[in-house]
Amino acid sequence: MLKQNPFMKFLLLITLVLFASFRLFGQNYWQQKVDYTITVKLDDVKHALSGFESFVYHNNSPQTLDFIYIHLWPNAYKNGKTALGKQLYEDGEQLLNFGNDSVKGGIDSLHFQINGKDALLEIDPKNPDIGKLILHAPLKSGESITVTTPFHVKIPSGEISRLGHVGQSYQITQWYPKPAVFDKNGWNPIPYLTQGEFYSEYGTFDVSITLPQNYVVGATGDLQTESERQFMDSINGKSHNDRGLPPHFVGSQSFPKSSDEWKTIRFTQENVHDFAWFADKRYLVLKGEVETPHTKQKVTSWALFTQANQKYWSKSIEYLNDAIRYYSLWNGDYPYKQVTAVDGTISAGGGMEYPNVTVIGNASSDTELEIVIVHEVGHNWFYGILGSNERVHGWMDEGLNTLNEMRYMYTKYPKNTYLSNMVLNGRFHFDELNHYHSGDFFYRLIAGTGEDQPIETHSADFTRTNYAGIMYMKTGLVFNYLKEYLGDSLFDQSMQTYYREWSFKHPQPEDLRATLERVSGKDLSWLFTDLIQTTNHIDYEISKVSSFDGKTVVTIKNVGQVNGPIEVSGFRDGKKIQTIWAENGAKKSEVTFDSEMDAVQINASGRIPEVDQSNNYWHQKGLFGRIEPLKLQFLVGKDEVQKSNLFWSPILGGNQYDKFMLGIALHNFSVPSPSFQFLLAPMYSFGGRRISGIAEINRTFLPKRNLKLSRFGISLRSFKNDTLDKNDGYYVAILPYWTAKIGNRIGGPISQNIRVQSMYRLDMFRPKQRELVGGYIQYDFSYTKADHQVNLELRTDHVSNSMNSDQFTRSSVAATYKYRYMKNKRSRWVELRVFGGNYWNFDMYNSGAVSAYSFALSGAGGIQDLFVEDYFFGRSAQSGIWSQQRLENMGGFRSTAGNGASGYFGTSTGWMTAANFYIETPIGPKIFGLYADFGLFDQAYSSKPVQAYDLGLAMRLGKVFGIYFPIVQSDNIVKAYSSENYAERIRFTLKFNLTNKPLDFMKLLQ
Ligand SMILES: [Zn+2]
Repeated sequence: MLKQNPFMKFLLLITLVLFASFRLFGQNYWQQKVDYTITVKLDDVKHALSGFESFVYHNNSPQTLDFIYIHLWPNAYKNGKTALGKQLYEDGEQLLNFGNDSVKGGIDSLHFQINGKDALLEIDPKNPDIGKLILHAPLKSGESITVTTPFHVKIPSGEISRLGHVGQSYQITQWYPKPAVFDKNGWNPIPYLTQGEFYSEYGTFDVSITLPQNYVVGATGDLQTESERQFMDSINGKSHNDRGLPPHFVGSQSFPKSSDEWKTIRFTQENVHDFAWFADKRYLVLKGEVETPHTKQKVTSWALFTQANQKYWSKSIEYLNDAIRYYSLWNGDYPYKQVTAVDGTISAGGGMEYPNVTVIGNASSDTELEIVIVHEVGHNWFYGILGSNERVHGWMDEGLNTLNEMRYMYTKYPKNTYLSNMVLNGRFHFDELNHYHSGDFFYRLIAGTGEDQPIETHSADFTRTNYAGIMYMKTGLVFNYLKEYLGDSLFDQSMQTYYREWSFKHPQPEDLRATLERVSGKDLSWLFTDLIQTTNHIDYEISKVSSFDGKTVVTIKNVGQVNGPIEVSGFRDGKKIQTIWAENGAKKSEVTFDSEMDAVQINASGRIPEVDQSNNYWHQKGLFGRIEPLKLQFLVGKDEVQKSNLFWSPILGGNQYDKFMLGIALHNFSVPSPSFQFLLAPMYSFGGRRISGIAEINRTFLPKRNLKLSRFGISLRSFKNDTLDKNDGYYVAILPYWTAKIGNRIGGPISQNIRVQSMYRLDMFRPKQRELVGGYIQYDFSYTKADHQVNLELRTDHVSNSMNSDQFTRSSVAATYKYRYMKNKRSRWVELRVFGGNYWNFDMYNSGAVSAYSFALSGAGGIQDLFVEDYFFGRSAQSGIWSQQRLENMGGFRSTAGNGASGYFGTSTGWMTAANFYIETPIGPKIFGLYADFGLFDQAYSSKPVQAYDLGLAMRLGKVFGIYFPIVQSDNIVKAYSSENYAERIRFTLKFNLTNKPLDFMKLLQ
């Protein structure tokens, strides 16, 4: 017996720990396997498939199974009640709800047998595209069963989602009965969705397709049929004329007649988790070959496209080959023998990936086609080989793929200015923007408005914008940030290890993190926790720069919410001399450059996705020290870090008193929006012969939680509001405010806003002036679904006139419910609004202003708009159309009561309630409607509550313009008019609500 010494004991412990962690990584992992044999026949007259499927299900899990979840995804196209139907409906796509039967699809004629004996398939009552196959006997760990079934698929219209046909062009995807994944988290049954991808078991596919002989087919797998190989080679490179095909242009559906002869072609593949095929008689074919960089394997590349898109597809083989080459180089070699791209007309985005074969939507340029082909081919790695759960962790495929797509573009085309050329034609100082910037800007624009969501969000819970801007783009950006920090070689080594360890498996986020941390030796919680699981924003700032002994020491402060590594570059005479990464972790860090720098910049490469980059630059020279050189440009441009941006443009304006106004707007609005914004827009008023205009400064914050966005600002407005001469009849208002979007950044149909506004307003009138001070607090809630809209507004105002003792406080509540009562293309809405308001105190010493301080039954006119919230053409107008302009507040009546024309009937400084009903007519153009209003209110000259109602016909153009023709009005309204003239009672409204939202760039673009 050997005597143990303590050191041996320690060694043994270490060995045990190492062994345990190895077991954890290597041996606990298991996955199921499904091997398919499918025969299928295409009926291109009825647009249907009939087939027979047999699969062997291997239970490699440690558990015993009593049933298997089976996906029947073609049933998603059955009607509007499926998960797909509901999702599309919310996005305004109603084909599955209201389209005729020919556009819908489904799978039937199923007859499941297990090992030759009939078996029961229970269809999920909620999801007809999910079934539960009940096993005859428990399937123990390590055992296999053979499952067979015939099936018939009605192919839906290609306009709906990924499975479909457009004429006789077929995209046969998600088309056969398919077991769901069983993994360490249990079963993963998922209904088919357009926004939200898939998760499937690996295995082998042996698929035989029978169809008319003149179809050209692109598919998953290696073609096993010799005659079909010869056919493909014989048409390789042949033109449309050579092949005797009818002319074809975009959108046309002229197909050659299907040949009477049929063919059966067979494809096989190992280590894939799906099989798709595409068939079109018009496809032109190009064949190429590429060698993988590491193992030097040959891969055959195929491009199948229609003549209509030939212009861009002529270089498609180059795109396919370069995609295979770069992705293999960075991540690990492509393991299959062929790669195919087909030209399709699918509705689900620009392209869609399947193992070995990708379908590409219509492109409008060479660059766009290249990006889509590269992206879709890239999915062979991030989806095909690394088979993560795309529905739950969509970023693991789309985001990592976007990183590679961005890297491909800036590696292959270092000088490409794709974004400037494609999107903006190089206008507006958005020069030198490449493909990377399109993602960077997109993300920063969304984040700047507080509407982003965490990267780790279930696909179906993302807003449409965030699905692209966050799941794809932000993930691409944050992994690119990691790549810049680790350096290409360590990053590639980490990703290649991930690829080696998880090829043909189901990696989870924790598996990716474990591999990257182990290989890089870094703690990546800043990435995997902050940047992926939250919407925390990155923001670094230069706090101190000092030079001595020929060195420059820079102190950097982390003023953001993410403890990431920081890239700091030193410049001399405008040339980048040295770049250092400060390690993550500390609130304050210091870097020392080897030589003296005259300028320092954080994130000079632009590869850190900071929302606000205005605090990133320091330079030594210049009159104002740290103030950056001013850059004056026309209209609007990109936010340039090294400059103080100043944009200008001429502006025109007009109202009844100022008449025509001409001026200049100076501002720093840029893309993405800076957190500090200003606008100065003086205009010369030809009516008032004075300077009118607006000015505003504000600062935006993006808190971690509870508020999506918080903004403090102060605006100044001055316009003429009467026809008096230039020294009188104008107002000057100073309006400090705080506004915020309430809630966390989790998406969903609810939005809530709060605004606290204060005011100092001076009205210059002869013989005396009015000086109002006051403020209001307003809370808005809204809920929006496809057919329902709810809005709630709670508000309290306080105003006092500091020149006498007039003052009041009032509170009001307004709730609106809108319902789309006619769906489909006609789309008609009905709405009900209720309003209630009360004055809590009202002291009046100057009765001249009583109407201005009142609730108005017909909504606030210019004189009642005390906080200058709207744009009025006739702010003080008491009669004529400019007195009627605003609507949809206070009493909301569609009559002109209370607007001067009818005396002051319908104003109240007590309480007021009202109900407003509006319905868009079911027939005729959408602009016509019927309205009815009912009001009950307290009026000074009446001892009991006053009732009023009106009813009539309306014509409305959107939310902006409306004309209302009364048919019936209550007596008190009728009597209030001075004449019998009907024209006087016709209400005209024009709504511009620009003044409160002048600086939201997203709004300007809408
Ligand atoms: Zn993708």
